[in-house]
Amino acid sequence: MARPTVAEISLSALRHNCRTLQSLLPAGASIFGVVKANGYGHGAVPVAKTLFEAGASMLGVASVEEGIELREAAVSGPALVLGDVDADMAAEAQAHRLSAVLFRADQIELFARVGEAAGRPFPVHIKVDTGMGRIGFFPEEMGAVIDRLCAEKAIAVEGFMTHLSSADGFESADRDFTRSQLRRFETAAGAVRAAFGEAVAVHALNSAGLLAYREFAFDMARPGIALYGSLPAEGLGADLGLQPVMRLVSRIVSLKKMPSGHPVSYGRLFSRPEPRDIAVVPVGYADGYPRRLTNAAWMGVLGHRAPVAGRVCMDMTMLDVTGIPGVRIGSEVVIMGEGGPTADALAALAGTIPYELLTQVGRRIPRRPVA
Ligand SMILES: *Cc1c(COP(=O)(O)O)cnc(C)c1O
Repeated sequence: MARPTVAEISLSALRHNCRTLQSLLPAGASIFGVVKANGYGHGAVPVAKTLFEAGASMLGVASVEEGIELREAAVSGPALVLGDVDADMAAEAQAHRLSAVLFRADQIELFARVGEAAGRPFPVHIKVDTGMGRIGFFPEEMGAVIDRLCAEKAIAVEGFMTHLSSADGFESADRDFTRSQLRRFETAAGAVRAAFGEAVAVHALNSAGLLAYREFAFDMARPGIALYGSLPAEGLGADLGLQPVMRLVSRIVSLKKMPSGHPVSYGRLFSRPEPRDIAVVPVGYADGYPRRLTNAAWMGVLGHRAPVAGRVCMDMTMLDVTGIPGVRIGSEVVIMGEGGPTADALAALAGTIPYELLTQVGRRIPRRPVA
């Protein structure tokens, strides 16, 4: 028998979020669902299937390996590898009908060689760095890139993209910077379309961009975090009714009356002058429950908030359940999600962001998709 700690994945919440985000976009623009890092920790395959059913036009993965995982699970819709596709993996990408981001000049020769060998042009999305300072050609390099690709019949330019660095910022400097990124992108997109036609899919917006700059949706928007029901920044999209997709639950495996003054957990950071009911939950930092939550977070127990008592351990965490009526061994505990703290709230308590919290949910926690 497995431990009772499970991540329930609400596919209906995911569908709802996808449709909600789609409804914000202008006509003609579609959702490119980002499912990298195992679908932000939710399980890439059920997430990918659900997003395509909900109308997504393309999915994004981080690596060829992540793309192959989808293909082996019979997810056959359009998918783009957002990270580097190197010489070892390019033929695999082509064989599995994965598109690649083109962001270095030396990739042109590699992709063309693979396209020629396969007898089918290698599909790429050209990436331009308009201010992110990560991967992509600078706008000034685009003319030369376009010229080289025009002469290259074994590469199919299928898309054109950029990535925003500051769309989640509320300062006027963030807004000015984001608008300047989007304007530079729009100019470069004009040249790409002139060279390769109107069928090139143009896309720039992450979740924050979609929520705050949707007039720049172009052909697709690329939300990740918002699909999973978390907000890219506090207050950004709070009125949309996005639903958390993951619910992390467990059960109490020990329940003891600690005598007055009896310490709890490593370092004796929790003790009370009066006797307390202390429950043990089988989740710890090895499951991605941050040790920073020591004496800081709470879990939902029978509709009540039970504070974390003492240090979070590797595989266990203690809760003070004193005064919760009916609590017993086997009672359900909501670590995160409906009935407990949201991923956003828990991330704030741990001094991080929901992205990190969700992607760190450990391998030994089974993902259980629910309708
Ligand atoms: C991860 C990623 C996204 C999604 O970002 P969110 O902030 O989760 O919406 C979009 N585009 C690219 C290129 C990414 O790497």
